Amino acid sequence: MDRIEKKEIRIKGGADRQKVFICQGDITKLAVDCIVNAANRSLLGGGGVDGAIHRAAGPGLLRECRTLHGCETGQAKITKGYDLPAAHVIHTVGPVYSGSHKDAELLADCYWNCLELAKAHGIGSIAFPAISTGVYGYPLKEAVPIAAETVLQWMREHEDYEIEIIFCCFDRRTYEMYQEFLSR
Ligand code: ADP
Repeated sequence: MDRIEKKEIRIKGGADRQKVFICQGDITKLAVDCIVNAANRSLLGGGGVDGAIHRAAGPGLLRECRTLHGCETGQAKITKGYDLPAAHVIHTVGPVYSGSHKDAELLADCYWNCLELAKAHGIGSIAFPAISTGVYGYPLKEAVPIAAETVLQWMREHEDYEIEIIFCCFDRRTYEMYQEFLSR
């Protein structure tokens, strides 16, 4: 599939047709049906993973993003992948961490709405970055359980849908947090 090593996490009681992986590396290198972009509300590019995705996808991505007229926090919009190995990009806007209980709801909405959109487009493999945990300041310790629990809940509620879900971690610390949480 690609050169980034993925580790499968076996989920107890999980359906055979659904798989969860964690990997460490650059999400723009993943040859999956869809990668998720932790974008900002303008959808016109930014730093971090957003900048990396736009650089790797080329100018076609920005052109298509301009037609979308932004995205609300917690929502998601889909585009093509252009020069990326991934066929599609789902752009979602994570919350800027403020410490209020609304943050967790919005972060969970991001993962959930990305998966709903992926399913609506028949996507069979999707890779997520750790949304909001960079510039948006969400503490990893709080963000990882929200990401993992939301994804696992979605899988339980869509047991008949065949999908591979990858948590793509840029750094070791994030990888280890997912590994520890998901292996429980
Ligand atoms: P946000 O604004 O949502 O916090 P950031 O891009 O600043 O978004 O960070 C989100 C996460 O994406 C962080 O864990 C960061 O380390 C990670 N990240 C940055 N670049 C990449 C990349 N090329 N591939 C995967 N993850 C990345």
